[in-house]
Amino acid sequence: EYGVCENLRKLEITGVSCRDVYAKLLHRYRHILGLWQPDIGPYGGLLNVVVDGLFIIGWMYLPPHDPHVDDPMRFKPLFRIHLMERKCATVECMYGHKGPHNGHIQIVKKDEFSTKCNQTDHHRMSGGRQEEFRTWLREEWGRTLEDIFHEHMQELILMKFIYTSQYDNCLTYRRIYLPPSSPDDLIQPGLFKGTYGSHGLEIVMLSFHGKKAKGTKITGDPNIPAGQQTVEIDLAHPLRLPDIENLRDFSELSRIVLEVQEQVRREEQEREQRQEEEEHSQQAASQPASPLGGEGAEGEETAAGAEGTTQDKAPASQPFVLPMGVISRNEDYPRTCRICFYGTGLIAGHGFTSPERTPGVFVLFDDDRFGFIWLELKSFSLYSRIKVSFQNAQAPSREAFDEMLKNIQSLAT
Ligand SMILES: [Zn+2]
Repeated sequence: EYGVCENLRKLEITGVSCRDVYAKLLHRYRHILGLWQPDIGPYGGLLNVVVDGLFIIGWMYLPPHDPHVDDPMRFKPLFRIHLMERKCATVECMYGHKGPHNGHIQIVKKDEFSTKCNQTDHHRMSGGRQEEFRTWLREEWGRTLEDIFHEHMQELILMKFIYTSQYDNCLTYRRIYLPPSSPDDLIQPGLFKGTYGSHGLEIVMLSFHGKKAKGTKITGDPNIPAGQQTVEIDLAHPLRLPDIENLRDFSELSRIVLEVQEQVRREEQEREQRQEEEEHSQQAASQPASPLGGEGAEGEETAAGAEGTTQDKAPASQPFVLPMGVISRNEDYPRTCRICFYGTGLIAGHGFTSPERTPGVFVLFDDDRFGFIWLELKSFSLYSRIKVSFQNAQAPSREAFDEMLKNIQSLAT
């Protein structure tokens, strides 16, 4: 079940019995296998703990360098557990550049564990903080600070280094699941890399919930922390983009989106009104007859429902270009798209102050790429699928997945 069979011969050589491997390694640590999000303030992260031969390894996955959103994910081991001749599972911290050293893992409670390093001197570099920062910057951004001219971006990068390096001695992880899929989904749900302006690339989970799709941040930033819902797509409201000649005109796109926003607002009001009326009629029903209120409202409901289901069936691809004035980190975005929907994107000040859902356009390019035009920010995010087969990451049920989404969102605030 854990894929250790092929290693039986190695086991004989090291003189460790199968039973020991099972009892001391796999059984004891089976609860930490799977997908996890570290608790690092707003930043989050993605860790996959897997069985690899006689090891259990915790791999941290990092987005490629900004803005190359189509590049593969990078990964590095944060810890490993293995059986030595001493017949006792050994936990090693893999952080830093001086090789594995003594560490510790504590399973706090179901779906939560923490790691601790017992030799943080192994994380230090001979050149001190300066060298540590330069190395981190090279790994994280593939650049030097001098290459990053944007002053605000330099500040954000420094802030992330100072903040995250406080967590090098111990980290707590919370379990996350990959989103469950259904044949009706617009595309396969899953994890994506997305461009977030000066914040660089972030990891977003796309999941489907009836007439809505949600993009939840697995990694975050000081504005919108990990766990928050960055975009929400209204699948009941497809958008017809203007013809390619008029697509460059931002005000035309803006007009179309705001019209749909107004329509959505009206529909929500009507729904609320209906609910109120129903409540009233329920109250009335307990009293002597007053049948009129309920009926009209029901008629309206079916009309709205029918409208929701008249979704265009996968139209042929149409030309796409960003409107003038909309900023994209990546000029390399696809020039054709399949379908667009009305959506909202979450924006907030530093420290997640006064968060607000603002109107935008969800653009589906193909099975593995989509985009979002942030109308108020006049910016564009491009998302590209993370093609890694994560192990032990499936949700046991849809309920468990929904519960997980709710939890990581509430913990982020
Ligand atoms: Zn360490």
